[in-house]
Order: sequence, then structure tokens, then C-alpha cells
Amino acid sequence: MEVKELPLRKCVSCGQMLPKNQLFRLVKTPEGVQLDKSYKAQGRGAYICKSKSCLDNAFKKKSLNRSLRQAVNEEVFNILYTELENDR
Ligand SMILES: [Zn+2]
Repeated sequence: MEVKELPLRKCVSCGQMLPKNQLFRLVKTPEGVQLDKSYKAQGRGAYICKSKSCLDNAFKKKSLNRSLRQAVNEEVFNILYTELENDR
């Protein structure tokens, strides 16, 4: 019997491979970079762990900007930090 595994995605901050549900998906849209809660939005996406240290590092090193080829503004990070709080 085969065990069906969740697809793994790589965090842009720490480089770990994790199941999608442990990561935030960010997607590049014409309106800018947005959090994709459905994990299904069209467009270039980037994943990041649901962890404060990964968010902090990504913000400092601009890892998401590089991955999405677009500047991710502070507002987006604020949304992620809020999501993180709500997740607990
Ligand atoms: Zn990470």
C-alpha cells in the first residue's frame, strides 16, 4: 500500500522542504504580491514557513523579492505576521 504524501514545497527563507499546509503561499498578481490562502491562485508563487524566524529572515534578506521578482512591501509581511498569530 502506498501512502499518499502531501506535496512538498521549499521555503524561500530557510530552504527546508515542507508540506504545503505548513507554509504560506505568496502569489504575484497585477495588484502586487498577495497571500494566497487557497494555494491555487494563478501566477508566480513563493512559499515560506509559518514561522516568525523565517518571516524575519525573509524580510531582512529580501528572499521573497528575489523569488517573486517583485518587491514585497511591509504590508504583506504584516498580514503574514497577523496570520501567524491567528494560527496559534
Ligand atoms: Zn523556512
